[in-house]
Amino acid sequence: MTDRILIVEDERDLLTTLRYNLEREGFETLGATTGAQALDLLSRQVPDLVLLDLMLPDMAGTEVCRRMRALEATRTVPVIMCTAKTEEIDRVVGFEVGADDYVVKPFSVRELLLRIRAVLRRTQGDRDGKEEWIEFGRLRVDPPAHRLWVDGEEIRLTALEFRLLLTFYERRGRVQSRERLLSDVWGYAVDVTTRTVDTHIKRLREKLGEASAYIETVRGVGYRFRERPGDAP
Ligand code: CA
Repeated sequence: MTDRILIVEDERDLLTTLRYNLEREGFETLGATTGAQALDLLSRQVPDLVLLDLMLPDMAGTEVCRRMRALEATRTVPVIMCTAKTEEIDRVVGFEVGADDYVVKPFSVRELLLRIRAVLRRTQGDRDGKEEWIEFGRLRVDPPAHRLWVDGEEIRLTALEFRLLLTFYERRGRVQSRERLLSDVWGYAVDVTTRTVDTHIKRLREKLGEASAYIETVRGVGYRFRERPGDAP
């Protein structure tokens, strides 16, 4: 199946170049040069991934991403944000906005392809691999639908938080180092720091409320998801 990528980029030359290069690599592409155009397109067809420029003429890429996350149809579509501002990265990736990854301009086509394939592998792996409902103490998880309930109340997680939670669950009872989580959850060795892992886990814990007790901090090493819900920390 051919993966379809929506590229949202207001620099027309760059948009043309990106479409050309991705199509040459076997992807189908759609293009939009404004946030409004992107949202309009997204309301009619759902791509497999969105490559989203942070600085658009009519609205910020972060706003496009937020609106995507608010809609059922596009809630779990992976987003790679393109940014020229490295200081924005922590805010953009997963944390506030819910992007899955980012590339910093100027980026090479090779780097972009690497990240696109890593994100698609992760998200499609999530979709195809785990068909079963998970019940764990206060948690109920529907992995294919990317939905989570705590004490019966649905909690919205970003794609990255969801993956983090599933990774923890699959390795429950075993300590996970920050480095291991970075490479497995984020997908490859990147220049995000291990502090990023802490930031996302803090956010995930806040969302989980009392169920956050299942994720234990192992000082100096990393984190561990409890083997059984009732285990004392
Ligand atoms: Ca731009």
